[in-house]
Amino acid sequence: MNRRRKIYEGKAKILYEGPEAGTLIQHFKDDATAFNGKKHDVIDGKGVLNNRISEFIFTRLNSLGVPTHFIRRLNMREQLIKEVEIIPLEIVVRNVAAGSIAKRLGLEQGTRLPRSIIEFYYKDDALGDPIVSEEHIIAFGWASQQDLEEMISLALRVNDFMSGVMYGIGVKLVDFKIEIGRIFDGDFQRLLVADEISPDSCRLWDIETGKKLDKDVFRRDLGDLADVYAELATRLGVMPKKSANTGPKLVD
Ligand code: C5P
Repeated sequence: MNRRRKIYEGKAKILYEGPEAGTLIQHFKDDATAFNGKKHDVIDGKGVLNNRISEFIFTRLNSLGVPTHFIRRLNMREQLIKEVEIIPLEIVVRNVAAGSIAKRLGLEQGTRLPRSIIEFYYKDDALGDPIVSEEHIIAFGWASQQDLEEMISLALRVNDFMSGVMYGIGVKLVDFKIEIGRIFDGDFQRLLVADEISPDSCRLWDIETGKKLDKDVFRRDLGDLADVYAELATRLGVMPKKSANTGPKLVD
């Protein structure tokens, strides 16, 4: 691992040079951060769980024709991905009021929104990822009008797929964030869903009990994060059932 060239290290993941041109290795760390890095902890097993959960979601998106950067999982913590140029926006889709929209607009947490709402945030840690409008995106050249339309369409397709998958395991998809990247093919560019989709980047509530199965458990000290991620992974069928004395199986 030491001989590999590190391309980028973020709060929860590392990108290494891939085995072929145009590929990268995405490594999931156990680090959990919130509030723009102000809260930090290391949660044993989180990286393994997110690698599996993200693999599950991206594999299915690929097979449904929603293009993603995911190629294949390599090992417990790593996956092979296509190298993309990340558009500097976080695209948030919301179905139910929670988190920052509830605070910003004075909505009660848990209120179903009149329709799915898409928001864009400019990726800049120093600025705290401010919310931006489509006008800002076009005016500052972060994406073109055509990119914007394609990003909205991708985000809604991910929302439809994810809402269905989660509903099938008794979970409500409240909101989620995706990132989108470009790849170039001669003169043409294509947009792909990139980064990860995992309980780090979604709000997921048990339909019956309202129990949170996402990073809010860490943000708000609601319990053991690895336990709830393992519960989600088990419900999705990507991890064996947790046994009473051995805990979730975190090795291949
Ligand atoms: O905090 P907020 O309500 O705006 O978050 C909306 C959704 O986007 C949540 O599911 C949250 O986990 C996700 N998010 C993220 N990364 C960020 C900000 C938000 O994954 N930097």
